[in-house]
Amino acid sequence: MTTRVPKELRDQVRQRASGRCEYCCKPEGYSLYSHHVDHIIPLLHGGDLSLDNLAWACFQCNTTKSANIASYDLETGELTPLFHPHKQKWDDHFEMVNAVINGKTPIGRVTVKILQINHPDQVETRQKLIKAKMW
Ligand SMILES: [Zn+2]
Repeated sequence: MTTRVPKELRDQVRQRASGRCEYCCKPEGYSLYSHHVDHIIPLLHGGDLSLDNLAWACFQCNTTKSANIASYDLETGELTPLFHPHKQKWDDHFEMVNAVINGKTPIGRVTVKILQINHPDQVETRQKLIKAKMW
């Protein structure tokens, strides 16, 4: 289900995130596709158009997340919700080591898995941006 986010709301989401993807932290302007507004809880699952339910996400995170809200953590076997950028702190659930983002918790691990945050193309982009001091 697609619903257009009003420009003013979109600008607020972008500004609040300082232009970075709220899942993988990629700064905008360094990829082929622009960042998007993500419905953290998709409309399909009862989410709404409130600022609290919207996140700024890179094309890759937004498209891989799609309507997903949870997955099974491979370590615990538990059904686990994806990371919520406004209810949780990124550093509590993720760490970046040599351009690879590791999930530190079940929430971090399922988010890395579902959003394919460590796809080789994503890691390569991160490495280049870090090397160029643009990360
Ligand atoms: Zn991202």
